[in-house]
Amino acid sequence: MNQSLLTNDIKGVKASPVPGFWITSNKAVTGYLEKNVSRGRVSVIGHSAGKRPVYAYEFGEKETGPQTVSFSSAYAVRKPELFSQQDRKKKPSLLIYSAIHGAEVEGTAALINLIHIIEHGCDLRGKKWPGLSGMAEQYRLVIVPLSQPDGRERYVPDSMVGQSLATFQYYAHGMWKDGTPCLYPSHKETLPLPLERIGHLGAYFNDNGVNCQHDDFFGTVQPETAALIALAHTERPDCILSCHACEADPGFSGPHMTNSAAAEAMTIRIAEAVLAKHLAAHLRPYGKLNLNRHSYFYLQDILSMASGALPLLYEFPHGAVNVPFTHDEIVDLGLILFEELMRFGLKTRFMPRF
Ligand SMILES: [Zn+2]
Repeated sequence: MNQSLLTNDIKGVKASPVPGFWITSNKAVTGYLEKNVSRGRVSVIGHSAGKRPVYAYEFGEKETGPQTVSFSSAYAVRKPELFSQQDRKKKPSLLIYSAIHGAEVEGTAALINLIHIIEHGCDLRGKKWPGLSGMAEQYRLVIVPLSQPDGRERYVPDSMVGQSLATFQYYAHGMWKDGTPCLYPSHKETLPLPLERIGHLGAYFNDNGVNCQHDDFFGTVQPETAALIALAHTERPDCILSCHACEADPGFSGPHMTNSAAAEAMTIRIAEAVLAKHLAAHLRPYGKLNLNRHSYFYLQDILSMASGALPLLYEFPHGAVNVPFTHDEIVDLGLILFEELMRFGLKTRFMPRF
């Protein structure tokens, strides 16, 4: 990317004007959770590298009891349900987290609207979602709307709707001290990033310069990552959805490296169901499913190994100039995604996946 273009393009960029239903900043999400929750429960599950709190919203009774076996041991004896405790749970359980990459706030906006539907019967635009409302009552839900608050704090524009790709590049991935863009995916060649060489740290990274999606899972784990692993391990949900966003069309990423054949087939069935609903709503998803299994692993694979859950990753659109989406459409994409995922789980209990 041309450096002068990048510099000129982002000159003077401040927070974009966003509608009132777009609640995604650390301050706005905290304020929302403090004032609007009475049916569910809000807790701090940990703190970021920069000492910012990471909040979780819970709804529905927690049904998992004390652990009696490790996942590895239960799986090896061909009884994974001993670990997941599926037999004792009356309700399916779902963990959804967003913004592990701090500029990818689209899932956060949709999740705050989901919480509002649970708490107040309509989304923040006043729209009722009777199907979603009814199904949420039949779930144990745990939602982490902003899982990496350090990066979110550096994401000034609040939204990429209508913004240029250069603006996205600067805020999401950052810039080296010499003025050249810190590019995806080559910035993955060093973890953590050498902060002494960074001019502007992108929202992708926490204050230690770590992309938690590729944390040093078996070495020194970042506090945000550790909080999510502990949450997944304690909850042992049936399914974990990680909400990301990119500058392309929206859709699921391909099945995960850690998927069994049954889990891979289930991932594709869920993606098909969501795709059909998004197409019916004219929300311009990827025209065809990504069926390619990843040959490398991410944070959601680790969370799956910690919990036994089916791992899913959905890419929202940013709505930047190359792939335009409105704020309304982005929230609708998310709410339809959550609705179809819950519908699938109620029918199948996310089984069999082992
Ligand atoms: Zn991402």
